[in-house]
Amino acid sequence: LPFHAAAFESAAGRLDQLPQPNAPEIAFSGRSNVGKSSLINKVLNRKSLARISATPGKTVTINFYSLPGARLVDLPGYGYAKSSQSEKARWSGLVEGYFNAGRPLRLVVQLIDMRHPPTADDLGMLDYLLQTGAPFLVALTKCDKLNKTQRAQRRASLEEDLAFCGSVPIVEFSAVKGDGVEELRGLFSEAAQA
Ligand code: GDP
Repeated sequence: LPFHAAAFESAAGRLDQLPQPNAPEIAFSGRSNVGKSSLINKVLNRKSLARISATPGKTVTINFYSLPGARLVDLPGYGYAKSSQSEKARWSGLVEGYFNAGRPLRLVVQLIDMRHPPTADDLGMLDYLLQTGAPFLVALTKCDKLNKTQRAQRRASLEEDLAFCGSVPIVEFSAVKGDGVEELRGLFSEAAQA
């Protein structure tokens, strides 16, 4: 895919604002602050196309980026401690509405901070993905924050935590050092063309 040619397309705060489902979609899911914007920007080789926000959890919108042959779908982050019940309900309505809309969803990239075990919300999201049957992979973010030994330990531990997901691809990623970028680009291109 020509990732460099991506452009911001639209933001949907309501289900009637989703774009026409006319391109293979690759969606990104993770808790607020996991590094989702940084990963999208790194894959697209852009400084700040996806907004790297200082105030996590602020906007509940699905943001769309289009490029020839695919659309990237930035789902709103979850797990922001200060979210109210009504904000959580809005999040669920929007995200479940997106997954139930019968869109050409080819891949979900589930981000998990490599330094920590999956949160309860991460596990809930993975359960939901398994339920929907959407193909997904796990990107372990901020791997540059670990040394080699810690990285191997965290990898082994996360593989156990994620065993219930079966044989999903697990990709260690760093937006700072670039680990995993080429691998993700390859997997995204394959998914979009399948
Ligand atoms: P989002 O809320 O999931 O979109 O997360 P952001 O992309 O805004 O990143 C949250 C914070 O983590 C920011 O301070 C980023 O600079 C930092 N961050 C994101 N990815 C990485 C990474 O790969 N390595 C390091 N060291 N920091 C990262």
